[in-house]
Amino acid sequence: MSGEPTAYAVLDIDLDALVGNWRSLRDRLPQGAICAGVVKADAYGLGMAKVAAALAAAGCRLFFVAQLGEAVALRHLLPDAEIAVLNGLLPGEAAAFAAHRLIPVLNDLGQIAAWRGTGGGLPAIIHVDTGMARLGLPPGELARLAADPSLLAGLSLRAVMSHLACADEPSHPHNARQLAAFGAARAELPAAPASLANSSGIFLGPAYHFDIARPGAAVYGVNPLPGRPNPMAQVVRLKGKILQTRDIDRGEFVGYGSTHRREGPGRIATVAVGYADGWLRSLSNRGSVAIAGQRVPLAGRISMDLMTIDVTALDPQAASPGNFAELIGPGHDIDAVAAEAGTIGYEILTALGSRYRRVYRGGAAPYLPSEKTES
Ligand SMILES: *Cc1c(COP(=O)(O)O)cnc(C)c1O
Repeated sequence: MSGEPTAYAVLDIDLDALVGNWRSLRDRLPQGAICAGVVKADAYGLGMAKVAAALAAAGCRLFFVAQLGEAVALRHLLPDAEIAVLNGLLPGEAAAFAAHRLIPVLNDLGQIAAWRGTGGGLPAIIHVDTGMARLGLPPGELARLAADPSLLAGLSLRAVMSHLACADEPSHPHNARQLAAFGAARAELPAAPASLANSSGIFLGPAYHFDIARPGAAVYGVNPLPGRPNPMAQVVRLKGKILQTRDIDRGEFVGYGSTHRREGPGRIATVAVGYADGWLRSLSNRGSVAIAGQRVPLAGRISMDLMTIDVTALDPQAASPGNFAELIGPGHDIDAVAAEAGTIGYEILTALGSRYRRVYRGGAAPYLPSEKTES
């Protein structure tokens, strides 16, 4: 009627649930600690503009992104927020960092020297590697920094941070090793607020909380406690439209590679979501969806724009063209989809495609200062 393109699939993002998750994480931290918001990778695929605005309205004042470009985009949305860039300060970027009042997370001595070179005592976060060998000062560089305080002269230390490699495995011995290494590193550096915990790190207990926590995934509803009940509210629902259904006879093959063959007669429905939409091909013959509240299996390989599901067990009315199949929903959350795909909820979220019709709910509540408001 309106000439609008068909909504082949709808991604529903509940900003109230997202803000509720952030608040519940913040409330686990000690009084006065800062709960930052990690909104890298377009807020884990859910849309940085909407997510950051909702978090800011709820009182979040410190944001982490991965890349300078993300930070510049966020600066335009949030003129007053503190914005830190995890990937560090790359050659040639210092002027842009300064111009947009961004906080670089300095990962090596070269970056520290480059940021000091901008002058003016601009704030920075120093990242020390405590056992991940990914980003951050390696032990040798930390020792050189400790031996020569002039390397930090004129630099405003916003925080000292590190990152946990095994926070989602509470009993993993590496957590305590990193905690100890972080304490030792802080003792070598000038006094500054400390930051160690990501989402799962917050659940390792008060020893891991320090002054600033950096949750991402749990804010978006991913379970920070794999294998245990998820304390977070679900933020995302995804449904895809059934385009066509067909009866198949004994022994017909379904999809590319003819990897699926129904033994008896049955019904196949084709849904308008494929791997180009982030519905990972590893879900082929393994994933499931819900139609009218009933779970049905994927049948055959996922293709670029489509997937096929076995709806033999359903009332034909329920699985008729134009109806929706629920791909992510209350009974089958991001972590359940990830388990079927052989990956983690983070990858399911960040893979969510750009073709979905996105519907945002809530998030418009005004900012109500509370006792636990961040300074
Ligand atoms: C992505 C990231 C986070 C957020 O981690 P989650 O597990 O999503 O909570 C925190 N710190 C660093 C350094 C990161 O790269």
